[in-house]
Formats: sequence, structure tokens, C-alpha cells
Amino acid sequence: QGKTLVVGAGGVSHAAVHKMAMNAGIFTDITLASRTKSKCDAIAASVLERTGVTIKTAALDAMDVAATVALIKETGAELLVNLALPYQDLVLMDACLEAGCHYIDTANYEPEDEAKFEYHWQWAYRDRFKEAGLMAVLGSGFDPGVTSVFATWLKKHKLKTIRQIDVLDANGGSNDQTFATNFNPEINLREVLQEARHWEGGNWQTSPAMTHKVEFDFPGIGPKNMYLMYHEELESLTTHFPEIERARFWMTFGDAYITHAKVLENVGMTRIDPVMHNGVEIIPIQFLKTLLPDPGDLGEETKGKACIGDIATGDALDGSGEKTFYIYNICDHEECYREVGSQAVSYTTGVPAMIGAAQILTGVWKEPGVWNMEQLDPDNFMDMLNTQGLPWQVHELNGPVEF
Ligand code: NDP
Repeated sequence: QGKTLVVGAGGVSHAAVHKMAMNAGIFTDITLASRTKSKCDAIAASVLERTGVTIKTAALDAMDVAATVALIKETGAELLVNLALPYQDLVLMDACLEAGCHYIDTANYEPEDEAKFEYHWQWAYRDRFKEAGLMAVLGSGFDPGVTSVFATWLKKHKLKTIRQIDVLDANGGSNDQTFATNFNPEINLREVLQEARHWEGGNWQTSPAMTHKVEFDFPGIGPKNMYLMYHEELESLTTHFPEIERARFWMTFGDAYITHAKVLENVGMTRIDPVMHNGVEIIPIQFLKTLLPDPGDLGEETKGKACIGDIATGDALDGSGEKTFYIYNICDHEECYREVGSQAVSYTTGVPAMIGAAQILTGVWKEPGVWNMEQLDPDNFMDMLNTQGLPWQVHELNGPVEF
């Protein structure tokens, strides 16, 4: 019982595996596997030092389905937690089906040569997981992840329907770097530089990347500029809550970040297609990733807070008319570092990955098929957020957002 195989040993994995070890009653046996075994060993050493728990490590190229199947069987894992990259989602789902193992991840599948952020590839696995009696849970990070659970909790306890929803993601943290991303640079820049898209009036509305800016006064952080952008939970939320009339996603960026990202894009450094360089084929954004700081290493020098949440408006459950609620978590970079040696963005993704995994291992979530977070019961997950380091608050606002 509780045997877990974690794939990927980056920043998010570091936080998630520490939190799993701190919940050894649920995660009774943890194996951490990744392409570079030394990174697994470094996390294992830190876990042992901080928690006294020994975890196993292994080298694994997740693109090799047969190797993953063999490792699942060898470890006896009942759950695979995918904390590698979005490119590995489908092959890891294939391996789970073949080996008879449940699956959970934090980001939707992307082909390496297309930045699409669409769920249809993974939703196409629904019947196969159902028939195999296995559960796959998609997007158990913070956003996507907690932001969808927040929406479901509001629908269960406060609102009959959600007419409009805004997801607001603020990172008020600062570090000594001139330019650094707060999670995998390649995935982060692909996401940020795509066309902005939001759901309104039954359609997707598009606008050029980073053009729609609004100042918002974030709890625990203060006023920050946030930009309208596309994020994958917009697709799943509007699919599973079809009453939503408008759904938008906002993220804060400083002026220096925007300038760097734009220059890098303008000179071609964020291209995801192969180009010839001195007779060698390179993909510019992958070369750029090699040059940029590893977000997993920024924990020690990052200070400040992150605040992520939803503002949702709809008819109140108690029949008292239209109501608007703001539900959010505030997370402190330095506290995360003290607890598990991670900065807040790794922590706010890794802790929900652990909590989602715990829902499956303890049988709170046990329906075979492929599920997004907003389709599953939120209550135990929300309780664990409070006890596992990501406490949340909900406040009623005077009315719907006006930006
Ligand atoms: P990192 O780049 O720090 O870590 C990724 C890890 O995956 C590395 O250890 C890497 O190995 C490993 N990996 C890559 N390819 C393979 C492969 N073929 N086989 C085995 N292992 C592989 O990324 P992050 O920790 O920053 O992000 C992890 C995931 O979390 C990403 O999918 C990201 O999109 C997602 N995320 C989700 C968020 C949310 O809120 N939902 C927020 C932030 C991130 P190696 O070291 O050898 O390269």
C-alpha cells in the first residue's frame, strides 16, 4: 500500500518528494526516477537529512515506455506521479496503462514542436483508463490544480453556478538574477509568449501576448501589474462548468521580465523549431534554457510572497442573489525554503501534486477514467492544503471584478 513512483527530479519534484516523505503514513514507499540519476540522489540525500526517510532512486528515460513499465513492475508502484515535462505525459500514461498503475501530473501534454496547451490528447485516454480500472488525474499543481479545486469548492459550498471567473497568479518574489523564470524556462517562455486567449460569450477571444495589462492590489503583496494570458485550466473549467460566461487568467510580470522576454523572442532565441548552427541542428529555446538559471536553485536567494487564487461570481447557493468571492493562498518564498529547500513556485506546485497523489492513494478519489481537478470532490484536498503548508482564505467581495 502507498507505493509511489515519482518521475522527474527538478524543482517541483524536490518540493513534492520532501512533502511525500513528511507524510510517510500515506507514501509508504517512494521511488524517484529521472533522466539524470544524480539529481534524484541529491533529492534523496536532502529528504533523508530533513525527514529521516529513505527513498529509492533510479535512472529512467520516460520516453522509453518499456523501461517505465519495467520500473513500475519492479517497484510495485500503484501510482506514478509525473513531475517531468509536459512532453512526457502521453508516454507515461501509456506505461501506466500497460503496467496497471494510476497516474497524476501537473501540466497538460505538449508536443515538443508545437506550443498548444490543449487537453484533447490526454482526454482521448478516458476510455482506456476506465476499461483498465485505473485513474488518471490531470493538472494537480497550483495553476492548473488548486485554482480548479478552489472553483469546485466555491460551487459546492457558496455558489450554485459560476457566471464568471478570473484566476489571478502573482509572484511578488525577488532574487539576485537579472532574468530568471520561476519554473522550467523552456515551458515557462512557451506559455508566456503565446497569444493571449480568454473565454467570453461562448467563444475564445484572442489578443497578442502581453498586451492587456491591469494593476491589481494583491493580498499580502500589494499592487502589481498583471497580464491577460492563456492558461490550460481555462479549457477544462469552461468544459466542465459550461455555465461559465467569462473565464480569464492573469499573471504578474515585472517590466524587466517583459523586456527580456520580448527581446529574446524578437531575436529568435525562443524559437521551438530546429535551426542549423555551424552544421549542428539546435532548438534555440533549448539552448536558451541551458544558459538561464535553474529555477530549482533559486530557493536560497528568493524573498517575498506569491499569491494565487480565483475571483468567481455567480448565484449564491443560499438564494441570496449574485455573490462574488475571492479565494486564495499566500505563500512565502523564505518559509518554503526553510521547510523543504525550495522557492515558492516549486512549493506551490509540489505540495498540490503530493496532495492529489494522497487523494488517490487513500481512495478519496477512486473513479477510473481521466479527470481534471474540478471534476473531483474538493473537500479533503482543501483540508490538506490547510494542514500541508498552503492555507487558503475566502472573502466575499462587494461585486464582480471591474477590470
Ligand atoms: P525542471 O526542468 O526543473 O524538472 C524537470 C525534470 O524532468 C528534470 O529532472 C528532467 O531531467 C526530467 N526529465 C525531462 N525529460 C525527461 C525524460 N525524458 N525522462 C525522465 N525525466 C525527464 O521542471 P520543473 O520542476 O520546473 O517543472 C516540472 C513540471 O511541473 C513541468 O511539467 C511544469 O510544466 C510543471 N509545472 C506546473 C505548475 C502548476 O502550477 N501546475 C507550475 C510550475 C511547473 P534532467 O534533469 O535530466 O533534464
